[in-house]
Amino acid sequence: MKTTAHPEAFHARPATAVAEQLGVDPQTGLGTGEAAARLERFGPNKVPAPSGPGPVVRLLRQFHDPLIYVLLLAGVVTGLFGGYVDAGVIGGVVALNAIVGFVQESRAQRALDALSKMLPADATVLRDGVTRRIPADRLVPGDVVELAAGDRVPADVRLVEVRLTEVDESALTGESVPVRKSADAVAEEAVVADRAGCAYSGTLVTRGWARAVVTATGGRTELGGIQHLVATAEVVATPLTRKLARFSRQLSVAIVVVAAGAFALGVVRGTPVPEMFTAVVALAVGAIPEGLPAAVAIVLAIGVVRMSRRGAIVRNLPAAETLGGTTVICTDKTGTLTQNRMTVTTLAVAGRLVPPAEAGALQRECLVAGVLCNDAQPGEGDPTEIALLESAVEAGLDPEAIREAAPRTHTVPFESETRTMTTVHGDVGYLKGAVEEVAARCADEVTADGVRPLDMAALEELQETLTARGLRVLAFARFTPGSAPTLLGLQAMHDPPRPEAIAAVAACRDAGIDVKMITGDHAGTARAIAAAVGLVDTASSARVLTGVELMALPEERFDDAVAGTQVFARVSPGQKLQLVHALQRGGQVVAMTGDGVNDAPALRRADIGVAMGSGGTDAARQAADMVLTDDDFASIQAAVQEGRSVFDNLRKFIAWTLPANIGEGMVVLVAILLGATLPIVPVQILWINMTTAVFLGLTMAFEPTERDVMRRPPRPPGRPLFTAALLRRVLLVSLLLVVAAFFAYRAELASGLSIAQARTTAINVFVGVQAAYLLSCRSLERPVLLAWPGHSRMLALGLGLTAGLQLMLTYVPVLNTWFHTAPVGVGSWLWVLAAAAAGFVVVEADKLLWHRIAARRSLSAARAGGEARAR
Ligand code: ATP
Repeated sequence: MKTTAHPEAFHARPATAVAEQLGVDPQTGLGTGEAAARLERFGPNKVPAPSGPGPVVRLLRQFHDPLIYVLLLAGVVTGLFGGYVDAGVIGGVVALNAIVGFVQESRAQRALDALSKMLPADATVLRDGVTRRIPADRLVPGDVVELAAGDRVPADVRLVEVRLTEVDESALTGESVPVRKSADAVAEEAVVADRAGCAYSGTLVTRGWARAVVTATGGRTELGGIQHLVATAEVVATPLTRKLARFSRQLSVAIVVVAAGAFALGVVRGTPVPEMFTAVVALAVGAIPEGLPAAVAIVLAIGVVRMSRRGAIVRNLPAAETLGGTTVICTDKTGTLTQNRMTVTTLAVAGRLVPPAEAGALQRECLVAGVLCNDAQPGEGDPTEIALLESAVEAGLDPEAIREAAPRTHTVPFESETRTMTTVHGDVGYLKGAVEEVAARCADEVTADGVRPLDMAALEELQETLTARGLRVLAFARFTPGSAPTLLGLQAMHDPPRPEAIAAVAACRDAGIDVKMITGDHAGTARAIAAAVGLVDTASSARVLTGVELMALPEERFDDAVAGTQVFARVSPGQKLQLVHALQRGGQVVAMTGDGVNDAPALRRADIGVAMGSGGTDAARQAADMVLTDDDFASIQAAVQEGRSVFDNLRKFIAWTLPANIGEGMVVLVAILLGATLPIVPVQILWINMTTAVFLGLTMAFEPTERDVMRRPPRPPGRPLFTAALLRRVLLVSLLLVVAAFFAYRAELASGLSIAQARTTAINVFVGVQAAYLLSCRSLERPVLLAWPGHSRMLALGLGLTAGLQLMLTYVPVLNTWFHTAPVGVGSWLWVLAAAAAGFVVVEADKLLWHRIAARRSLSAARAGGEARAR
């Protein structure tokens, strides 16, 4: 038997024939033993990841950089003119640079790869006549699977039975309009997009339900065939890294122009050409921030890993960058703010409120309706429906016996648009759902004195009472097919708030982030829960809008009304998209949660779409930027906090790196311009560039979160990474570095040391000031001693290693030869300490000064505002 049959035209043959060929009965599925045997034979249902370039190619790719070419050329030129040692050092630097780049790139990639594996997909499969959920990678050809709206198709399948099934095949065909499926065969030559009878791995069921037989798994699927996976190289590019890459390129061009000018000047003045050449190459290599985009990607990747530890899986790097700027979080209620653990507390039948345990004959049919119009099994299914089974049991009924006595003949499943569910059991039908929806269809109701016309006013009042207690209320009705239903009563259930969510909501409010609740539930329930989790101060002060009220709003008032509302109730998924649009028009950065198929557009549109890892659908997860492993609101808050920290660390890294680069370049440039001897020679510049960029600069990626990170307002959405203040700091420190290096060099010469010794001190001073500035960078705005972010092992390690390396450079004879350095005495180290301390004081004083100026400015602005209001 041949069961992979990728080239076989399953789409052109009747489903029954396909099932027969694959050796399976669509009504019972494979046997467990047979499935295990096939798994052995065909392997797991996984598309092997594209292997990408091997390590050798990736290592070689590190040399593919104009800067490296220039550096290599400089090495060759230097070598040809007899500077063997310098040539060797340059070669070593190039090799080291490549290795560092290679290691960093692999680390970032590995971290991200690991994340993408953290979300295993499940599939619903029929085996031995029983449906169950199994990991999708255990599917085999011949398995019978069930697909529901929101599911991702787990393998290539031939459809056997369809109910209004539509599938979004854009992942495969690029066609974004969902296609209608059928179980019929089509012409053999039909292309993938036209094969109505088949569905393909990786596509999404957007509507309906289907049963299907798996025809191909793993690498033999259409998806596996075309290896439709994102190229690995693209994963680490984000808008920010691209922007930075552009910035680096522009800066590089400017530096090359300056270097060329300096070269010409030096040669005209009579400096030998090879010497001048090495000098300007050192200038360029030092000044060009070649590692910036890669380093930024690493900072982001580390942030992503930290977020995943806190329950938020970020699916792409740009999201890690955007998260920190979130100004509004729109969240679901059920499951995110609450525990989604429902318990019926009250039955309201014929005007009487009783707990389920005290239910009698009067309440019986309401409970029976809850059992029959219900898809859950005890402990398994929708928590709302499980609660209804439990309330029946508590009232002394036997759900299993009730279901056996009245087999279901027809179902209209629950949808969040209709908010109702209907089942028919022979000649009686039951309807359950939102009170308004059910009541609108009922003509009369069950009362203590028999069936009477429905008293709508009393029902509404009852609903108000129950929802004000934070209860979720469902109405139940009975009908005989063809006639209007009769209301049987209400069941009200309690869903406790998540304790973590309460703290997280408070943290968001402190952080100036607006938290809005968007729910399909009733306004009263939403209001009460909002108060319980602290989203609003009291239930009565909550500003609430319902879906109907939203629709009635005139267009010009829509945006303002949305901005000023905290709770949106009875909202349909389509309206979520409108809300995102309205908030974004108001300049907000919006994070929005969603779990259904219909939420996908809103999730895609939001700046941060958030889907649920355990509840929710594959469709929502596919559209989301972030997936919460525990569905908990607190994880969103944690991710935002980490996002802010990532953004801080990026700014810190850039604030440290740029002056280092500019300073290195300027030392050479200034010497050339002045016609003075170089205080630091080219190979030494390369040494500084190599050691400090890695051991000092990258520690900023690991900085702990600043303590006040969630006590400041969100960064203004339009604010660029390079603010004027940052630019000023960069220039100040660059200048400091150059002055310190020249000053130390001259002073050492003046005190009678050799040129090699004076240069050694100049290097140590340069690195010392860089190290002191690194400490300053731990807090960019506030004096670092007041805002000390606590211990960082990476920082201590980086500083220790740097100190060790400088000592080696100064005292190890081989390094003395290679880098033209010489041992110096204690006096010289005092220079280093003094310069580092002075540099630190200058930067801290600069912070204080500007802090004052900014404070005074905002004070006078506030005063001006106050006066304007007083007038
Ligand atoms: P959120 O968006 O915060 O998760 P929700 O889960 O309360 O809100 P829905 O699940 O769309 O929103 O439910 C909306 C309303 O539909 C509920 O208030 C309830 O009245 C009704 N409802 C919920 N589940 C069912 C169900 N299984 N059968 C019938 N009606 C239901």
